[in-house]
Amino acid sequence: MSQTSFDIQQAAVIGAGTMGRGIVMCLANAGVSVQWVDTNPQMLEQALATVAETYAHNVRQGRIDQAEADARLARVSAAADYAEIRNADLVIEAVYENLELKQKIFRELDGLLKPQALLASNTSALDIDAIAAATKRPEQVLGLHFFSPAHIMKLLEIVRGAQTSQAALDAALILGKRLGKVSVVSGNCHGFIGNRMLHPYVLEARKILLEGAYPQKVDAALQAFGFAMGPFRMYDVVGIDLEWRARELAGKGQDAPEIQVDNRLCEMGRFGQKSGNGYYHYEPGSRQAEHDPEVDALVLRVSEGLGFQRREIGPEEILERCLLALVNEGAKILQEGIAESAHDIDLVYLNGYGFPADKGGPMAWADQQGLADIHQRLLALETRQGDQWKPARLIGELAAQGKGFADR
Ligand code: NAD
Repeated sequence: MSQTSFDIQQAAVIGAGTMGRGIVMCLANAGVSVQWVDTNPQMLEQALATVAETYAHNVRQGRIDQAEADARLARVSAAADYAEIRNADLVIEAVYENLELKQKIFRELDGLLKPQALLASNTSALDIDAIAAATKRPEQVLGLHFFSPAHIMKLLEIVRGAQTSQAALDAALILGKRLGKVSVVSGNCHGFIGNRMLHPYVLEARKILLEGAYPQKVDAALQAFGFAMGPFRMYDVVGIDLEWRARELAGKGQDAPEIQVDNRLCEMGRFGQKSGNGYYHYEPGSRQAEHDPEVDALVLRVSEGLGFQRREIGPEEILERCLLALVNEGAKILQEGIAESAHDIDLVYLNGYGFPADKGGPMAWADQQGLADIHQRLLALETRQGDQWKPARLIGELAAQGKGFADR
């Protein structure tokens, strides 16, 4: 992997929102020149100012000197349109999470860029093959899934499409190293490794709210286990509105019981930390999540309105359901070959999702419990709560052989 046919000297980033800003800094910090395009010139102007301010702040903190700040900033330039970036060796797209929009951009770029250029999307979940299909170079298309804030978070999921070439993957791995990232290769499926596992985990947390608990209690249980943040605090940081808007944009239903609390919060303009209120309250300028009785009242109203008979749910049940949801999905990801190893899954959860380091990651944690035990616990949940808890085939197989995920 020391050599690749792709030499990345000049990069370009499409989109100057939250992710584009972090990705641009990440590249510039590692010595890569980067051109920047956004259809909204004001957004691009603001983003350039934010990058300059971040570097000035780093100088004030003594983390870099002025010469380094100047050098980093000099590597970043605005481009008025795609024609200006036609010489880029790598383009990373970070526009809204919408497949048609991304396909349109990839089609256009494919017609303009030199044949050896790589095209990457920072999509959180969309089908890389469907994006690649908009181009005549699907072997040079891949996902580069950065985590927010991209210049700080260590994890980089490199998403391999059905046609992505080994040379393109190698180039991405070399770039990941240059950017100081922990890179994990994922196959192409909805949400890749990290967000695909997050889905059943958060779904459990949301169901637990409807059945009887409150956000603070769910978060407290997971934080006591060692997570950097419980799921509801995490949603406040990410922005509760992102999924809500994505559902609107994709014309997806907003009717599932589990999303009704989120929907009401968004309708109230409670998008999370950025709006001062979400699952928690934030004083102006503070990131301290404060308990908000209004949210508990909302949870109660929604849950009773949906006909739930609320009951006391203790931290053991919260942990059991949230952790086993993660492990079972992780096992499916492993048996399908989406992740190459259980260790890769653990790296994703340790570096991108705040899983407690001393537990080694969800798959290592499951191995410590013993897969025969995990299998029994999943079967018990299946009996009590239904099919969604059916243990992944791999868990049963490994348990029967007395093996763990790490032995695979
Ligand atoms: P954002 O809304 O903050 O920014 C999107 C930017 O894209 C805006 O500045 C917009 O003007 C620009 N844009 C829209 N259409 C464009 C076009 N045709 N050409 C050029 N620019 C265009 O979005 P974000 O949160 O930065 O997310 C970007 C992508 O990254 C999405 O695919 C998202 O799923 C993914 N992602 C987001 C996060 C996160 O935590 N926000 C994390 C990982 C991945």
